[in-house]
Amino acid sequence: MNAPHLARKRFGQNFLSDPNIIRKIIEAIRPAPDDRMVEIGPGLGAMTEPLMARLDHLHVVEIDRDLIARLKAAHAPDTLTIHEGDALKFDFAALAADGRPLRVVGNLPYNISTPLLFHLADSAERVKDMTFMLQKEVVMRMVAAPGTEDYGRLSVMLQYRFAMARLFDVPPGAFRPAPKVMSSIVRMVPRPLAECTAIDEALLGRIVTAAFGQRRKTLRNTLRDILSDPDFVALGLDPGLRGEALDVAAFVRIANHVAARDAQI
Ligand code: SAM
Repeated sequence: MNAPHLARKRFGQNFLSDPNIIRKIIEAIRPAPDDRMVEIGPGLGAMTEPLMARLDHLHVVEIDRDLIARLKAAHAPDTLTIHEGDALKFDFAALAADGRPLRVVGNLPYNISTPLLFHLADSAERVKDMTFMLQKEVVMRMVAAPGTEDYGRLSVMLQYRFAMARLFDVPPGAFRPAPKVMSSIVRMVPRPLAECTAIDEALLGRIVTAAFGQRRKTLRNTLRDILSDPDFVALGLDPGLRGEALDVAAFVRIANHVAARDAQI
C-alpha cells in the first residue's frame, strides 16, 4: 500500500475527488479508443484511470517525482507513456509528428495556467482539441467578449488561435484539498490556419500587450510608439477608443497594417 500523498502547493496540487464531476469531465472529453491523447498533470490518476479505460493508449506529463513513481508502479508502459518533467517545456507537437492530431486534456496546475496556455498555443497546428479544468476567473477571461471587464490580452491572443467554450463550473468541494476558488471546464478547438491571418504573430502579440498595458488609457496613448495619426486615419480607427473596445479582427487589422507599413520602409 502506498502512503498517502501530501499535496504540494508549489505544483498546484488539488486532486479531483468527486466521482460525478470526474464522470462529467470524461463525458465532455468523449475519448475514442484510437485518440492520440495527452493528459497534463495526472496527479493521483483521478482522470487518468477513466481515460485509460476508454483509450488504447495515453500519454501523461507530470513533474512530481513521487507521483511519477506511483504511476509507474500502477501502469504498464504499453498502455501509459509517462513523460517526466515540466509541461511548460514539453514539446507537445512532437507527439503528433506523424500528422495524427493530438487531444490535450488536464486539470491544470492553476499557478502556471497562463504561460501553459501560451506554450500550448505554439503547438496548435498539431492539436485537434484541448479540454481543461482551470480557475473559473481565468476561463471567464479566455472566453470574454470585447467591451467586458474580463476582456484582455488572454482573450484576444487565445481567441485569435482557438474557438473556445466554457462547458460547466466545478465547485471547490470536488477537490482534495479544496481550492479557494471556483473552477470551470473549457474546450479549445484550434481555428483553421486560413482564419489565422496575422502576417506577424509576434507583432500582433506586442500590439495587444501594449493596448491592454494600461486599461484606462486610450489607443492614442497605449499605441503611441506603434501608430501615428496618419495610421489611425488609414485604419479608420478612433484613437480615443480603449483596447477593450477592439475585437480580435481589429487587432489583426492593426498588426497587418503595421507589418505592411514597416515592410515599405
Ligand atoms: N489530474 C489530477 C486530478 O485531477 O486530481 C491532478 C490535478 S492537480 C490540479 C495538477 C497536477 O499537475 C499535479 O499532479 C501536479 O503535480 C502537476 N503539475 C504541476 N506543475 C506541473 C508542470 N509544470 N508540469 C507538469 N505537471 C505539473
